[in-house]
Amino acid sequence: MNLEHADVVVVGSGIVGLAHAYAAARKGLDVVVLERSHGARGASIRNFGLIWPIGQPPGPALEMALRSREIWLEVLEQTALPHWRTGSLHLAYRADEEAVGREFADLGPKLGYACQWMEAPGVTSLSDAANPEGLRGALYSTTEMTVDPRVAMAKLPAFLTERYGVDFRFSTPALAVGAGKVETPRGSWSAGHIIVCSGDDLESLYPEALEQAGLQRCKLQMMRTFQQPDGWLLGPALAGGLTMRYYPSFEICSNLEALRQRITAQMRGYERWGIHVMVSQTMQGEVTIGDSHEYGPVDVFDKPEIDELILDYLHAMARFPILEIAQRWHGVYARHPEDPYVRLRPEAGVEIVTGLGGAGMTLCFGLAEETVEGMG
Ligand SMILES: Cc1cc2nc3c(=O)[nH]c(=O)nc-3n(C[C@H](O)[C@H](O)[C@H](O)COP(=O)(O)OP(=O)(O)OC[C@H]3O[C@@H](n4cnc5c(N)ncnc54)[C@H](O)[C@@H]3O)c2cc1C
Repeated sequence: MNLEHADVVVVGSGIVGLAHAYAAARKGLDVVVLERSHGARGASIRNFGLIWPIGQPPGPALEMALRSREIWLEVLEQTALPHWRTGSLHLAYRADEEAVGREFADLGPKLGYACQWMEAPGVTSLSDAANPEGLRGALYSTTEMTVDPRVAMAKLPAFLTERYGVDFRFSTPALAVGAGKVETPRGSWSAGHIIVCSGDDLESLYPEALEQAGLQRCKLQMMRTFQQPDGWLLGPALAGGLTMRYYPSFEICSNLEALRQRITAQMRGYERWGIHVMVSQTMQGEVTIGDSHEYGPVDVFDKPEIDELILDYLHAMARFPILEIAQRWHGVYARHPEDPYVRLRPEAGVEIVTGLGGAGMTLCFGLAEETVEGMG
């Protein structure tokens, strides 16, 4: 078997692996990425493509999200990848949603969120998609962006190779990782640093360390409409009251508890399946809709009732010219119940970075920069 060498071997070409490859290559290191499939097939191509700082709690996580956003912009500029810099709207149709939105708009700017409360006429002038019926206003934030995950994940490897000489080896699983060494079916690698970004695969590499870290899997159901008519734009990405109870950023609001209690008492299906409804738009004009959260062992079969609940809520909150669903799929990510990510050093020269939960697109580049700086 042949033995090759690189300064850094990254395992996994999901967005977390690519962000680490970028951070290491920018430092002038010689980087190889090993990916077991013929391209990224995990959470990174199945998501909304939302870079969503407003979901991160104030402090280090928000700072990491904002730094990550800056690096995304640097990368998007270099690659000329299409993206929307439209911000986001959390639409409020209930008094308790309005109370949380207004409170966040009041407290948020002092904590680093670029947001404000917007009355209903302002919202509908910004968004053709927001349903005006019963709309009380929205929390508007300017920092959210959308990339098309399928396009980005297909194009970023070529960019990293052309611009920074990153060597991608697809269809090459890392079978074993040890200090300074990676075994694959196509030969071995020696490396000064190995960064394992294997997403929700918690069994193949360092299973004990990952189990001890307390990671869990979460399955999400998603949908996409057919292409909307030419020229129709979603504008800001949309979320609603259900989303306010989902992201930890909203914990700063004393009004959140009342909203939570109402949802728990009155929206059983939404609570049971962890549903909150978000909407983004692809560059081809389709609208991406999700999602649900089922924790634990992954049911390979999707549940039509979850899609129905998502669509019922969506129809009360948003309107598109074309509502017909063209695609349905699910994605799975690894998450930590309390921490925004998990970074472990199981042995010298090896870092495991995973567990970014529903914020991998949002945190990836900031986190990767920090990992590479910490490698010395
Ligand atoms: C439906 C859905 C919607 C989401 N929406 C958003 C969003 O809008 N915004 C946001 O910020 N986040 C979102 N997320 C979260 C985000 O997608 C994930 O946090 C992120 O993609 C995780 O990236 P990753 O690189 O860790 O994992 P993955 O994308 O799963 O990549 C891991 C890669 O490692 C490879 N691999 C595993 N083991 C090996 C091995 N031994 N050898 C070689 N290769 C290996 C796999 O084949 C895979 O390609 C969403 C997630 C889902 C599922």
